[in-house]
Amino acid sequence: MMSKTQGIVLKEIRFKETSKILNIYTKKFGRIHAMARGAYKPKSQLIANTQPFSLNEYDFYKGKNFYYITQADIIDSFYSIRENMEKLIYGYYMLELVEKSTPEEEENEKLFLLLEKGLRVLSKLDKDFLKFIVSYELKFISFLGYKPYIEKCVVCKNEDTSNIKFSIKEGGIICSNCSIMEPYSERMDKYMYEVMKTLLYTPLNKIIQINIPKDVMFNLHDILVKYILYNIDRKEFNSLNLMKSLENNGGC
Ligand SMILES: [Zn+2]
Repeated sequence: MMSKTQGIVLKEIRFKETSKILNIYTKKFGRIHAMARGAYKPKSQLIANTQPFSLNEYDFYKGKNFYYITQADIIDSFYSIRENMEKLIYGYYMLELVEKSTPEEEENEKLFLLLEKGLRVLSKLDKDFLKFIVSYELKFISFLGYKPYIEKCVVCKNEDTSNIKFSIKEGGIICSNCSIMEPYSERMDKYMYEVMKTLLYTPLNKIIQINIPKDVMFNLHDILVKYILYNIDRKEFNSLNLMKSLENNGGC
């Protein structure tokens, strides 16, 4: 049976001499493994359509173990994500988030559209990558079904937000009384809380106008990575480890 859908390449693995097995996040079928036969041949028409980040319209049929790509038309390669190392690694982080948190063949159109929009915004960004990433993480985890509860205390619904922490386990802000009973809580202050709220609800293409100190961004990113890993039951992200090793070597 033939199918047609848009898809974004998350990962490519060489298969035999000239073929590739791709991990693609598609609009209609969620994450799939697809075979691109002959994609490594120098004259292959599939070269551009099988690179990570590229957004394509694919035709394929489903075989026993894979989907097989029969035709692909590129919509956007998001090539400018590759023009800066920090930008590139955060781009890979966005792909890794989808790869590690979505089960195979489970459709989530909202998540697909978020990834598409995220790559579009990132490709045009020339600074403040971390601010963008924190805003993206907040939206990503929400569309995955774990929207942080930040209106009031997630446990007792206390509305006083003056002395709060963020509970990774409960998935939201937690008041000082409740946090005594909840050891897996992260330090937060009123300002971090306001920033979290703003970045959750501001569209990705509008966040450039918001000014946030770097240390606040680092702290929020740290909390969100822990929160995401907890919910998707993973230990780490390879892309963020790569970022850390670059920072330690004075790169970026
Ligand atoms: Zn409480």
